[in-house]
Amino acid sequence: MNHRLPDGSDPGTLLITGAGRGIGAATALAAARLGRDIVLNYARDEQSARAVAESIRAIGRKATIIQADVGRGEDIRRMFDTIEHEIGPLHGLINNAGITGPIGPFTDTAQATIEHVFQVNVLGAMQCAREALSNFRRHGTQGVIINVSSIAARTGSPGEYVHYAASKAALDAFTLGLAKEVAAEGIRVCGLAPGSTLTDIHAAAGEPARPARIAPGIPLGRLAQPAEIAEAIAWLASPAASYVTGTTLVCAGGL
Ligand code: NAP
Repeated sequence: MNHRLPDGSDPGTLLITGAGRGIGAATALAAARLGRDIVLNYARDEQSARAVAESIRAIGRKATIIQADVGRGEDIRRMFDTIEHEIGPLHGLINNAGITGPIGPFTDTAQATIEHVFQVNVLGAMQCAREALSNFRRHGTQGVIINVSSIAARTGSPGEYVHYAASKAALDAFTLGLAKEVAAEGIRVCGLAPGSTLTDIHAAAGEPARPARIAPGIPLGRLAQPAEIAEAIAWLASPAASYVTGTTLVCAGGL
């Protein structure tokens, strides 16, 4: 398939944070199928990130893996320095890495958990966005930033993770404001709010059986597969969505 843009150029390289597993890994594969080269960021699970990179190369696109904890500013700086030296221009950033902390009522949630969730989901995403904008401007690319939000920003997630919902609402406001700020440069900023999706995130939150518990409350009657969310993110990041900016698309099975 010819993935060149109408002007003959390549659609370019996307950095996806948290791309070793779950929605990030599925997005890497979906975007590679649309002709993108991928920089895969992961925090701890190098083996999974390597496996995703192999699958991308099998599609015929380039894949690079970079370890960095996006909850740590120095890791983010090192990641973007590596990109600058080894890759050069970026054409997009998918701020996908996100955590919930343990499931439970807000009053039982430790202050350290709240701070860590905001550090990764909000401050990390903001710093990655600043670094990506610097890269776009340095190389003259009209890049795109996609912030992976959550339906939680609209439901508030009572009894489960109110702090997480609040972090995603902050990300949505960031998407809106930053999009307007950089639109005149031809840079797009969008959000994608998944509904509950079949990934490891529920087990990591302490309730592996959460999908079965919540499925009946979803109009489509089931959770999303990661690939169903990934297709929407890959489209938003593609030139096919060239007039979409400043909005967060909800992909949540009818919620
Ligand atoms: P997941 O299956 O738990 O995978 C998380 C990924 O993020 C892993 O690749 C992990 O890397 C990486 N990661 C975690 N903390 C990181 C950090 N500090 N720095 C860099 N990478 C980090 O998660 P998911 O369900 O795919 O979620 C992806 C995004 O979708 C998140 O922003 C989440 O909030 C959002 N979302 C998910 C759901 C859902 O139901 N799954 C619903 C709405 C929104 P390692 O493998 O190296 O640990």
